[in-house]
Amino acid sequence: MVNMLSTVATVANEIVNSEPVIVRGACPHDCPDTCSMLITVEAGQATAVQGNPDHPYTKGTLCGKVNDYLDRVYSPQRILYPMRRVGAKGSGEFERISWTAALDEIAYRFNQIIREYGAQAILPCSYAGHEGLLNGINVGDAFFNRLGASISERTFCISSTSLAYLMTCGPSHGTDPDTFSHSQYIILWGCNALSTNVHLWSFIQAARKNGAKLVVIDPVKTRTAKQADWHLPIRPGTDGALALGLMQVMIQENLIDADYVEHYTIGYTELKDRASEYSPEKVSALTGIPAADIVQLAREYATTQPSVIRLGVALEKQAGGGQGVRAICCLPALVGAWRYLGGGLLQSPMWPFPIKWERLHHAEFIQPGTRVLNQWQLGATLTGETHLDPPIKALFVYNCNPVTQNPEQEKVIAGLEQEDLFTVVSEQFLTDTADYADILLPATTQIENLDLMFSWGHTYLTLNMPAIAPLGEAVSNTELFRRLAAKMGFADECFQLGDEEIALGLMDWSAPVLQGIDMAKLKQDGYAKLKIDPVPHATGNFPTATGKCEFLSSMAIDSNYVLPVFRQGYTEFQPGAPVDPLPTFIPPFAVGAELETARYALNLLAAKPHTFINSCFANLPKHRRLEGAPTVLIHPQDAAQRGIVNGQLVQVFNDLGSFQIQAEVTDVVQPGVIAAAIGHWRKLSASASTLNAATAATFADLGHTAAVGGTLVEVAAITSGLVSTVGTD
Ligand code: SF4
Repeated sequence: MVNMLSTVATVANEIVNSEPVIVRGACPHDCPDTCSMLITVEAGQATAVQGNPDHPYTKGTLCGKVNDYLDRVYSPQRILYPMRRVGAKGSGEFERISWTAALDEIAYRFNQIIREYGAQAILPCSYAGHEGLLNGINVGDAFFNRLGASISERTFCISSTSLAYLMTCGPSHGTDPDTFSHSQYIILWGCNALSTNVHLWSFIQAARKNGAKLVVIDPVKTRTAKQADWHLPIRPGTDGALALGLMQVMIQENLIDADYVEHYTIGYTELKDRASEYSPEKVSALTGIPAADIVQLAREYATTQPSVIRLGVALEKQAGGGQGVRAICCLPALVGAWRYLGGGLLQSPMWPFPIKWERLHHAEFIQPGTRVLNQWQLGATLTGETHLDPPIKALFVYNCNPVTQNPEQEKVIAGLEQEDLFTVVSEQFLTDTADYADILLPATTQIENLDLMFSWGHTYLTLNMPAIAPLGEAVSNTELFRRLAAKMGFADECFQLGDEEIALGLMDWSAPVLQGIDMAKLKQDGYAKLKIDPVPHATGNFPTATGKCEFLSSMAIDSNYVLPVFRQGYTEFQPGAPVDPLPTFIPPFAVGAELETARYALNLLAAKPHTFINSCFANLPKHRRLEGAPTVLIHPQDAAQRGIVNGQLVQVFNDLGSFQIQAEVTDVVQPGVIAAAIGHWRKLSASASTLNAATAATFADLGHTAAVGGTLVEVAAITSGLVSTVGTD
């Protein structure tokens, strides 16, 4: 029944009887840095985890989130055995069972549901809790497609940004982050690098030592913005207006690189017309940035080369976030920044990794007409609000924690509470979502499994070798789906492969970017840099339909204004909404004077935490102590209007729901904007709900991203007490 030929076990067993060894690994978490790690193993126990000092990008350091990774691996809170629910749904009460019993029950319930409702009543649910090619977001695709389950559309992150970038520049790696030290003008646009892209910082600092200026455009004065030479606090959701305003100044003042524009771009005339609608004064009214600053930024950006823009992810989570990113992606070509080493734009350098996505997704198993259900809308999907036929009767969760991370938290919980929903969760810890499992399965941590890691923040391929044997009865995700496939009687070849065979089959090793790179080299060094051009667009060569940087998008035109939607993890497209082929400004939900009369007058921003990675680590005592109590940042003016003082417990609410949180009165946020970190666990918070109780699953303009950055709320003081749940476990 169980395929025991796991490479994980084989390698780990060799290690058990050896002298202390160093095993090369890679951080698996949802972070662009994908750090190369070294794990020290003695007598089968991991005794140290550190960064690999040889790695040219991550340079031997791990961030504070992962530094003490062994606290996670050996945490007494780990789930180490299969379990069955014995208490009420959500109670977190389970009893240990065997793997045989767990697989029997899953197969029995799946088959029962398939007989009664059809296989599409089963829905997988996964995201970036693990970013490995083997154990990550797509590891269950073959199994669920073979089963005939509903397809989960996973557009949680960078789907809108990626689509906007692809429409403009094509699948190019853009500016190699290794070359940022050559830049002279660096704009971090919606990117809090010191918290979320920390290894880029040393390259930025090297550039600054050479005279580069660092500009941060962000609604919040983040810890990165505090370190910048110039922080431009922008009103949330107005980035596209700013980019169009910069264009107008550059065009009017003849600051564009006319030769580059003529030879390597398409649609300049139309873009010029569009930009003419955005004067600095108009843009100032929209963005809150003084007109003089907009003019200064345009002049400096255009005339200081090499200039480079690092795009963050949060921009997309606004009503017009995709088109905003489109406008920003046009800027480097307008000023000819792509000509230079260290110039251009970095969205995600993941595109050149020669991954055989089809071998992850296994679309050949998908039956025509199989429905696609977007993950943002999980709450409505589970509760039946969307009147699905058949309704969802089984949910299989791995690599994600939707109770904490999805919008419309109350709907997600209401869905999970349904007695006739059969829920399986594969996890390392008893998360807010795992509490609702009927069957709970133990998952390995990264040092217990093999994986091959691409990166969405640098251009190194990294191999993660298993350092120790799986703890307890935990299994890798690859092994989990081998076991499930065997139990369901799937004999297809893809379910018979061992981990190293899977890894070998996932890359096109003959691709020019992998010249001289093979598994042996990866085993020896742990990583290898892709053979890419460090100045990819010095003379155009954009991998678009026209070969040019497309101000006017041929993707939009060729699709007769029906754009494909980027689906996270693989580039399969499906019809989406009509899209303007020119970058345009779409106002955010929370905009300007409307806020003054709105029922909910504050724009809630969900920020990535500094100490957690999404909701990972948010249960570990040290991380909770370091992160501190959940707080909402509120401007003194807004606080005074509501009688709120620093440290006070407040209620944040709108029509969707509410949560309680400690107020931090500070001018790092603008009037009208409040911000709180996402990731705190609901069951460890002051109230029975967290930030996502107040966010909606309304789609933004591109890529089926939800516009959660436009959430409108009110805040009310409820007590003078402080939140006191931090560090109590
Ligand atoms: S979370 Fe990011 S910065 Fe931290 S160790 Fe992992 S990859 Fe590196």
